[in-house]
This record gives sequence, structure tokens and C-alpha cells, in this order.
Amino acid sequence: MAVKVTNECIGCGACVTACPFGAIEMRQNKAYITEACTMCGACVETCPVKAIIREEEKKEVAMDKTEYKDVWVYLENEEGKMRNVALELLGEGRKLADSMGQKLAGVLIGNNIEGLAKEAFAAGADQVYLVEAPELARYNNDGYTATVVDLIKSYKPSVILLGATNNGRDLGPRVACRIGTGLTADCTGLGIDEETGLVAWTRPAFGGNIMATILCPDHRPQMGTVRPSVFKRPVPDYSRSGEIIRVPSKVNPADIRAKIIDIIHVCTASCNLEEAEIIVSGGRGLGIPENFCYVEALAEVLGASVGASRAAVDAGWKPPLHQVGQTGKTVGPKIYIACGISGAIQHLAGMSSSDVIIAINKDPEAPIFNVADYGIVGDIVEVLPILTEEFKKIKAS
Ligand code: FAD
Ligand code: SF4
Ligand code: SF4
Repeated sequence: MAVKVTNECIGCGACVTACPFGAIEMRQNKAYITEACTMCGACVETCPVKAIIREEEKKEVAMDKTEYKDVWVYLENEEGKMRNVALELLGEGRKLADSMGQKLAGVLIGNNIEGLAKEAFAAGADQVYLVEAPELARYNNDGYTATVVDLIKSYKPSVILLGATNNGRDLGPRVACRIGTGLTADCTGLGIDEETGLVAWTRPAFGGNIMATILCPDHRPQMGTVRPSVFKRPVPDYSRSGEIIRVPSKVNPADIRAKIIDIIHVCTASCNLEEAEIIVSGGRGLGIPENFCYVEALAEVLGASVGASRAAVDAGWKPPLHQVGQTGKTVGPKIYIACGISGAIQHLAGMSSSDVIIAINKDPEAPIFNVADYGIVGDIVEVLPILTEEFKKIKAS
């Protein structure tokens, strides 16, 4: 897309004030659009003689798309363990690969992690590209970006899925930019577009008011990051096996600019929401921040992580890494206990795929009860200590 001034310009200057980015100058009595133009289009309608036009740039993509095949999943791992999101994406990737009649491959980068390939095969992978080197032992963006870019150039996948985790959100766009392809970030749905056979990437847009489905027709690979816990992990089938393709690392340790000096775990099990099997979450209904102790006590007995609504986070009762919802984390535990949370659509967007939802709220009409499997109508400060005591007794017996 480009915005241009044609020879019809009569030099009235109306467009100069209309441009919100100060991107139009008058030169020799004609409007001139500078590099500051964002192509917003605000000037087009202001020209009285229709001398400003938007032009689609002709796309010349010299790419043989038929060379690109197979669906890849980036197998994010940490301290020798596969992240749940990698397994979730293998489950979804399997469905895409089957619909496209292609193979599903995992991309495993690290050091001494070959054992994780078994998990990838059990979750549906046909192949695993394994790159091991001491300098790749921990995620670092220079080393991992160079490695994934090198793999793409050598093996030409058609689709790449990454988790929308901190690392996936760092790695995906860097790789896409170097390869010159697009990336749909933070997807909540995947499918195949019937007309084109392309991957249909679905993600919330405009503050979650609409769901946008995005295609990548002109470039390969088609890339996207997918929120953790949106999809269920497939049931592992350890009778499956596959091919390990060992690829030597081409990373020069001297090219890794960011060095990890120390790792400080600020996130304990209590805030590891994306991997949690049980979550106890608190909302504004707790009344005062001190009442979060009731949520934490129940979480401790159940071995659960602690979540929070945005209202509780905005009030400073819990740090943002505990927030569940559209602008927080998407979670999918076996049990989600919502305490004093009304059930606003933005909160539900982050937890409604939980297996069992239990809601405690003093308002019987609270919308959270519409999605809850079990509901307790009562005051949180009275109900939570009773539940905690009862669970303690059950555990002791
Ligand atoms: P409230 O809506 O105030 O609900 C409190 C509930 O507690 C009520 O149902 C009340 O009946 C109950 N209650 C009160 N006292 C007691 C008591 N003593 N015992 C038992 N129950 C009691 N929200 C999120 O959570 N996550 C998000 O990621 C998120 N993203 C957003 C993004 C956008 C763009 C927007 C516009 C909003 C977003 N929100 C998000 C905010 C969301 O709309 C709600 O405002 C928020 O979820 C409300 O939090 P709450 O349920 O804790 O508070
Ligand atoms: Fe300014 Fe937008 Fe016109 Fe560009 S398209 S010149 S940014 S008003
Ligand atoms: Fe030229 Fe149109 Fe801008 Fe007037 S509004 S200066 S005619 S481009």
C-alpha cells in the first residue's frame, strides 16, 4: 500500500493540516508526502480535487511455495522438561498436518535433550529436528533465532507453530522477520481455510470485540504463536516412534550478544498458571487485599496455583503475572475455583476451557455461575476457610 499525490494537486494545503503525523509538506506549491507517512489514509478524503490516492503495491514474491511442506512445532523446553504448550501444539499440529496430507515435525533445540523427542513422538510428531550445543543449553534469542532460521532455509516447512510464551513471543517475530514471512501472534484458534487450503489463524482483535481470521497467502512458512492452554494436550501414545534428524549447530558462541548471568525464579509454583492442574483465583469480591490469604490457604492445601481477576490485579492485590483472562493468561486446568469473581467476558476468555469450574459468589445471579459446573452462593470469607479445613481433613485421612 502507498499513498501518493497526483499531478492534479492545486496546492490548496488542506491535506497538510489533515495529516495527524505531520507527513505532508508543501514543496513548490504541491503537496509532498514524506517518509513519516503511516498510510493511515486520513488525508485522502480531505483533498478537494481527489489528488491523493492510495495504491496497492504490486506484490512480486519470487518464491516457489510448492517447495515448502510439513507442519513444524517449536518444542519449547526448560531445564530438561517440555513445556505443556509444545505438547498442546503437537496435538493441533497433528490435525493440521493430517488435513494437509503432510508430516508433523518438532524442532528441539537445547543441550542433552534428545530424551524429549520420545515425548514429541508420543504426542503425534513424525520427525524431530534436533539441534544440541552447549551454547544452546538455555534459550537465548541470537542463538535460537539463527538456528531456527537455518533450519527453515535448509528444510523449508510450510507451517510453524510456536507457543505464545515469553520465549515464543521473542523468537517467532525475529525468525519471521529474517525469513521475510508473516506471523499471526497470540492465536486462539487454528484451522484450514477451505477455499485456499491455507492455515486459518484466529485471534482476538480490537480489544477482543471481534475474532479475526488471518491467512498468509504469499509467503512461506506460515507462522503463528498460539496461546498456552487454549488446546488440550493429546493423550500420549508411547507406542509411536519417529525419525530424529540431527542437525549440527552453526551458532558461533561469540555471536550470542545477551549472556545469561543468573536466573532468579520470581515465579514459584503458585504463579505457574499455564502449567497448573488446579487454580484458585480471587477477584474484587475478596473486598480487601488481606483476604487473598484465604485463596492462598486453599491453594496450598490443594497444591494449586493462585490466579486473580484483572480487578484484583489493577487494585494491586496481586502482581500481573497472576492475572487470568483476555489480557492475562489463558489457562486450562483440571479444576478452576473462582472466588468472588463476577465472570466478565474478558475473564471467561482466559479460563472457560478449564475441565471443571467451581464458583463461589454471594450473588446468585453472577454470570460466573453460567459457566460453572458447581456453584456455592455465599460469602467468600466464610466459605473459603470451611473448604480449606475440609480438604485438609480429607488429605490427612
Ligand atoms: P467484579 O466484577 O467487581 O466482581 C466481583 C464479584 O464478587 C461480584 O460478582 C460480587 O457479587 C462478588 N462478591 C462481592 N463480595 C463478595 C463476597 N464477600 N463473597 C463472595 N462474592 C462476593 N478481567 C479479567 O479478569 N482478566 C482480563 O484479562 C481482563 N481483560 C480485560 C480486557 C479489556 C479490554 C477490558 C475492557 C476488561 C478486561 N477485564 C479483564 C476486566 C473485566 O471486564 C472485569 O472488569 C473484571 O474481570 C472484574 O473482576 P472481578 O470479577 O474480580 O470484579
Ligand atoms: Fe498523513 Fe495518513 Fe496521509 Fe500519510 S496517509 S500523509 S500519514 S494523513
Ligand atoms: Fe494538493 Fe489535495 Fe493536498 Fe490540496 S489537499 S494540497 S490539492 S493534495
